[in-house]
Amino acid sequence: MKNIHIREFQKMMHRLYFLRDTERGVKDTYRWLADELGELEEAIKGNDKKATENEFADVIAWLSSLANITGIDLERAAINKYSQKCPKCQQAPCQCTF
Ligand SMILES: [Zn+2]
Repeated sequence: MKNIHIREFQKMMHRLYFLRDTERGVKDTYRWLADELGELEEAIKGNDKKATENEFADVIAWLSSLANITGIDLERAAINKYSQKCPKCQQAPCQCTF
């Protein structure tokens, strides 16, 4: 498996984890995602490329799990909001002030 769309990745996570994710529930699955974001922060701080890559993988996996049990199509949500331009200023690249 080389290139897949976000939707296919989410469906794979569904196949692998949907039952367990459903049993765990939204609240605890969100907590796992939040923990993984903390681990991503630490990996980035540690300047460890391999660890950072691993944590990015965990974040998108847990984000997909959370999307699955809340009935959200991640790919559709992302493309609907971020479609070639910034949703706030409508420019590409973004011209919003910091
Ligand atoms: Zn903008």
